[in-house]
Amino acid sequence: MTIEDGALAVENLSRLFAVDNSHGGHGLRPISFTLPPATFFTLLGPSGCGKTTTLRCIAGLEHPDGGRIRSGSQVLFDGAGGINVPVDRRGFGMVFQSYAIWPHMSVFDNVAFPLRVGPARLTDRQARSRRVEEVLASVGLAGFERRSPTELSGGQQQRVALARAIVAKPRVLLLDEPLSNLDARLREEMRAELQKLPREHGLTAVYVTHDQAEALEMSDLIAVLDRGRLMQLGTPRDIYDSPANAFVASFVGRTNLIDVKLAHAAGSDGLASVHLANGAMLPCRLRHAPPIGTALKLNLRPEALSVRPSVGASHAEQPHLPGIVARCVFQGAAMRLEITVGDLLLHADAPVALGLKPGSAVDITFAPDAGLALPVPDPVPR
Ligand code: ATP
Repeated sequence: MTIEDGALAVENLSRLFAVDNSHGGHGLRPISFTLPPATFFTLLGPSGCGKTTTLRCIAGLEHPDGGRIRSGSQVLFDGAGGINVPVDRRGFGMVFQSYAIWPHMSVFDNVAFPLRVGPARLTDRQARSRRVEEVLASVGLAGFERRSPTELSGGQQQRVALARAIVAKPRVLLLDEPLSNLDARLREEMRAELQKLPREHGLTAVYVTHDQAEALEMSDLIAVLDRGRLMQLGTPRDIYDSPANAFVASFVGRTNLIDVKLAHAAGSDGLASVHLANGAMLPCRLRHAPPIGTALKLNLRPEALSVRPSVGASHAEQPHLPGIVARCVFQGAAMRLEITVGDLLLHADAPVALGLKPGSAVDITFAPDAGLALPVPDPVPR
């Protein structure tokens, strides 16, 4: 896919703020990505990593320091070329945390507003009504046309905001934590609604969240940001199974990250080996090929670990770590365990039927290719 084919292409976009703060970040360092049409794309990262700044730059609400933003072949911003298309001419739909719908207008009038003013104006009243009704039906609000927003629940108000954002058929829909004011049940319901939008309406959604479970569930593509830097861009599966570095591994999903040093480079079977601090050697996969002796983090997902009561037998074929259960948390379907292995504390799950308790001696085994040794991200330059 070329940049011109992308529904949205961001090249070397940067926006640095003069004042640093407690989050350790101060804006956005140059980031780039190209999104195919009809993609659900999520900007994911901790508070202050630059998600909203990215979205505001794309929307035209923030003036970037540099870079380019295109939608298809239309250039919306070009720092070097002096192009900056104003927010109301970008043709994007937007939904933010606060619903920002007008309480004095009916649901119909709220949703019809973009069709009465602005570039997507529909002068034919009947066509306008048909479109509003169609969109209200698609967000589950058929029959609510004459209601006042003040009579609606938070979830319904957010659906009105969504209907208004998509009524003019934008190519790109920008969503900044639109579910954060909803209760857990409504959030779940709305996640499914939002996820359908790209396919049903042929738009590309750019969604901001700090909730990794939400990102994994909803996205076609995720960009993980940390302190203004793009750490990884990939499908949920790529990001979970092959995180680019220790930050991404720890931010997306539960995991164990163990300090190790590279002992042997990958052999013909694709497996390298690493030393733990206590000298024990474990096989693993590598994300890159660093020099022998490089300090890395070994990423071992809890679900890759198999825990059994210790029987003192050897496990010649499988990597194996002896430990003592420190804490058990009953989860219904499984027992969530914290296990001390020397100085390490590892997280694992085990069947409840094993009857493990704090103090139980256990053996942890895992497949030789279960571990992935990852680089630690460089510190952010000041
Ligand atoms: P959150 O999840 O908390 O909303 P975020 O990832 O969306 O965080 P941004 O709002 O993009 O983060 O902010 C990125 C960084 O830039 C933060 O350190 C923030 O304090 C800083 N920042 C954002 N806007 C401004 C501003 N107008 N002036 C100074 N600093 C700012």
